[in-house]
Amino acid sequence: MKRLVAVLALAVAAMAVFIVTQARRLPPRAVLTVAATVDTTLPPAPLATGDSASTAGAADLVSVRTSSLPPPRRDLAEIQRRLTDGESGTYIREILLQRGDNNARWPDRQLEPLRVWVQPQSDIADFDRSLPERVRQAFDRWTRAGVPVAFTFVVDSARSDIPVVWVDKFDMAISGRTRWTHDQHWWIVGASIELALHHQSGSPLGGDAVAAIALHEVGHVLGLDHTMDERSIMCARVRVSDLSPADEHTAQLVYSIPPGSVVNP
Ligand SMILES: [Zn+2]
Repeated sequence: MKRLVAVLALAVAAMAVFIVTQARRLPPRAVLTVAATVDTTLPPAPLATGDSASTAGAADLVSVRTSSLPPPRRDLAEIQRRLTDGESGTYIREILLQRGDNNARWPDRQLEPLRVWVQPQSDIADFDRSLPERVRQAFDRWTRAGVPVAFTFVVDSARSDIPVVWVDKFDMAISGRTRWTHDQHWWIVGASIELALHHQSGSPLGGDAVAAIALHEVGHVLGLDHTMDERSIMCARVRVSDLSPADEHTAQLVYSIPPGSVVNP
């Protein structure tokens, strides 16, 4: 009995050492530990139109709307082969787990770029005139990741596909929020972004953190979801300032298969 107790005590001590060691490995940098979008705690989005259904999805705020887009050409065996061949070095399985095994993406929009409007001015304290350009750079950065989606920046918010607006802060520990809508085929058909200028506590986020959050939110716009990998911009708590190879490869894989279920019904 005494031996059992001793073994258990040793195991607990070893676990404690392991936890402390792991904790020390985390980067001490606080700059970009900005509590991005812990989305699963968000309440359902207000409905934009009467025929929408809304859920607080694993990725920010998701709603469903019927569209007239044609259904994608789907070959389940081919979809599963591409996933198996391409999943190494990606977090596609984490995304599919959060989506009930559904892939969400825009139709190819290289020839007809998505129109982005970034609010150019704000009276909110600590707004910096350089911020809108940093948001535009976030969109351009994802374009270079190799997805078949182009963006163009428009000056008329009413004619945009993706408005980006500034908010003072959120009433929860997030710094950005993306609302996006998919249709009956899981084509993404609309999105909007809100970016905070302050932490929930009221302290300013700063330009670097805002730029990182913008990158994270554009990832949501493209159909990506969260990963546990802290080296990636799609980690719920953003700790990096650029896309990781996993971010790029995951986005490429999302756009190498059609939208909708990746498993047998
Ligand atoms: Zn997020």
